[in-house]
Amino acid sequence: MIDIVNPATEQVIGSVSPGDVDAAVAAARAAQPAWAALPRAERAARLRALLDGLTEAAPGLAELISAEMGAPLPVARKVQVGLALATVQSMAELLERPEEPERIGNSEIYREPVGVVAAITPWNYPLHQTVAKVAPALAAGNTVVHKPSEVAPLSADRLAELVRAAGIPDGVYNVVHGYGDPTGAELAGHPGIDLVSFTGSTAAGRKVAALAAPNLTRVALELGGKSANVILPDADLAVAVKVGVANCYLNSGQTCTAWTRMLVHESRHDEAVELAVAAAAKYTMGDPADPATRLGPLASAAQRDRVLGHIERGLADGATMAYGKAEVPPVGYYVAPVVFAGVDPDAAIAQEEVFGPVLSIIRYRDEDDAARIANATRYGLAGAVWSADRDHALAFARRMRTGQVDVNGGAFNPLAPFGGVGHSGYGRELGVHGYEEFTAVKAVQL
Ligand code: NAD
Repeated sequence: MIDIVNPATEQVIGSVSPGDVDAAVAAARAAQPAWAALPRAERAARLRALLDGLTEAAPGLAELISAEMGAPLPVARKVQVGLALATVQSMAELLERPEEPERIGNSEIYREPVGVVAAITPWNYPLHQTVAKVAPALAAGNTVVHKPSEVAPLSADRLAELVRAAGIPDGVYNVVHGYGDPTGAELAGHPGIDLVSFTGSTAAGRKVAALAAPNLTRVALELGGKSANVILPDADLAVAVKVGVANCYLNSGQTCTAWTRMLVHESRHDEAVELAVAAAAKYTMGDPADPATRLGPLASAAQRDRVLGHIERGLADGATMAYGKAEVPPVGYYVAPVVFAGVDPDAAIAQEEVFGPVLSIIRYRDEDDAARIANATRYGLAGAVWSADRDHALAFARRMRTGQVDVNGGAFNPLAPFGGVGHSGYGRELGVHGYEEFTAVKAVQL
């Protein structure tokens, strides 16, 4: 049995037992042809029913996720559950539109299901990341074997109940609990899997791709990030820093797209640090259920220790801790928010994914220098740019080697393709691009 620990109370709140990968893959293979053969409108109706079930279950799901991984309740409601609802709705809507094959000369191009999908997900947005795979995979006519994170697996069981209640046949969505190794590894290397969709760390993603390779199984990887928030000299510094700090600390910094590097012109560095420190001081730590809490605990003791190790390394490498070392609640895996100032862009703290509430402020000399620094990590998942001149910001956004960029705080769009380049992985989730990830292209010549 794997115990599930509430990271705010350090109490065991449940347990799961490792599942049988072979049995789950066999169930998914058996169910796939009939599921794919259902008319589009029928699959859409089942997704609508799932959306209704999820909507009704949303308050309880938010509490469950908050309890298993520590997100403050408003974040759990709005982001953790809210994004999952938006994704199911978008996939139902997509299916409700008639299929219109693309025409190229005398060919019609169809999008067909890949077959059986292995979905392997992390603990930071457990339901959202699951639904970002399961909803499009099911919409396209695939069946799924899902291995949730061993740290936060409880929402997957709840999702399975809702899938069944929505009239989605047995075998279409299967949950297999277990650790990454052996259970996740067994799934990634299973010959009965047609596509592995993985979200997690770059290190595990690399292993998953290697395990899938002998079977020539398709792989989509959503991995880590070290995203840059570039504040150009003419930007409204107060707004850019405030939004930047909020983005970095969301979900206690356990967000793959977090803007963990704030790039500021050298003439405005000290002013930016002052603003960031003032913003960080407002991040009250505490009970995720308390409405005053803005920063919950990290998801596990291991994650807390990893983050503390990164902070120590940052200090040892000479970064200035402009804010940090605040008192943390006596129980729970809390880490106080940190603002590092004057960070060397090549230092480990500016290169490695911390996955905690740690912001590094980096000076740049001019715009070319800013673009060079922004692009000088192995990662390329997200990013931001701020300028009084939107076109200028857009031109800079085009220079950033990354999967998505927000200009002047542009809102997250749940229909836009989501994914990375470089060590942030390959493949796209969400919207039409996310749907297409779970399809195979067929050309029919007429
Ligand atoms: P992790 O890589 O340790 O685990 C992710 C999942 O992979 C878990 O289910 C785990 O059990 C499984 N796993 C681990 N080793 C495996 C192996 N050898 N074979 C098969 N499966 C294996 O990551 P985590 O600690 O759960 O999550 C944090 C990481 O996820 C961060 O690096 C973060 O950036 C990344 N992440 C990326 C995105 C994205 O969309 N790009 C989103 C969220 C999180």
